[in-house]
Amino acid sequence: MENTLSVASGHNGVVIERVQTALLDLPTIRPHQLSMATMNGQTLMLIRIHCSDGSVGVGEGTTIGGLAYGAESPEGMKLAIDTYFAPLLIGADANRVPALMARLNKFIRDNRFAKCAVETALYDALGQRTKLPVSELLGGRLRDSLPVAWTLASGDTAKDIDEAQAMLDMRRHRIFKLKIGKRAVADDVAHVAAIKKALGDRGSVRVDVNMAWSELEARHGLAALADAGCELAEQPVASAGALARLTGRYPIAVMADESLVGPASAFSLACASGADVFAIKTEQSGGLREAQNVAAIADAANIELYGGTMLEGAVGTIASAHVFSTFRELHWGTELFGPLLLTEEILRTPLNYEDFQLSVPSAPGLGIELDEERVQFFRRDKSRTSVSMAAPALFR
Ligand SMILES: [Mg+2]
Repeated sequence: MENTLSVASGHNGVVIERVQTALLDLPTIRPHQLSMATMNGQTLMLIRIHCSDGSVGVGEGTTIGGLAYGAESPEGMKLAIDTYFAPLLIGADANRVPALMARLNKFIRDNRFAKCAVETALYDALGQRTKLPVSELLGGRLRDSLPVAWTLASGDTAKDIDEAQAMLDMRRHRIFKLKIGKRAVADDVAHVAAIKKALGDRGSVRVDVNMAWSELEARHGLAALADAGCELAEQPVASAGALARLTGRYPIAVMADESLVGPASAFSLACASGADVFAIKTEQSGGLREAQNVAAIADAANIELYGGTMLEGAVGTIASAHVFSTFRELHWGTELFGPLLLTEEILRTPLNYEDFQLSVPSAPGLGIELDEERVQFFRRDKSRTSVSMAAPALFR
């Protein structure tokens, strides 16, 4: 029934006392078009884990387009954590994060995003307790800032060019990822070629097809994209087998994203030489340490790394930043721009994006502080709780 290493009681006196979750709905700065969904807003599932020493860790679970990307949704994560995760956590030793995660993995299958949110909160609290940033608890950072790509996904070529020019002028982004796959291949290639031509050497141009192409379409598409000066194509096809057959055939890097769902899938892809680059997503991997395990497999297979996003808000984004700062190499940078896609700030001090990079905080834990008033304002259930006599517990 129980792990050999007991987490049932806090041997040093620090136990988990309370687990709270809430859904926050935040608007986006513009519609964000992907091959599988168009996002006009983002829902964050925030979790807080309260420990007996007074430390409170924060974590986040976020998806792309509700259930359009995968089997988990913010609403589903909240339900799973409230109903199934919390009873396994409450009363347990708050310092033994890997043992706690092993316990969750034993009793709860899948639910990788929810596990990531929980692990983030546990490490945030542990960092506050030990006065160390999460990156140091994860083995130690190798960099204090990370290059950040911007996604051009307005669906309109002229608008995308204007947006890219503005980002270059602000010195915020010089790597641009174009979301394609909704239109015919030839139309998408023309869109990419026009943007690359407008930017020239000032910006790197990459595409994300989000699995929308057949293998045959990808053969045409990748060859034409390479000719247009596009340097990387992310998940052009759905199947890992097709991805492997396309890798190395054209002068354009092939990156796996949706095919990567944790260390086992990373190992299979690596064995099949199934990608030049891995887009590692902390949530998709199943947590912070599992993302590091995926990176270790890539390293061993000479597969290059890119730090991906599930378009998380500030909490999830900075959790990923701590993880990616520990990667041995990060040749393709990151796309940790999620908070910049939202119109509203929920931190007391916003994340620092400057000189094309995101700073990794060096304060204890995640190194961020939520703005409580803003968090309360954007809670989905705030109107319901204010009128209901049977109001649920705060933040749950
Ligand atoms: Mg992708």
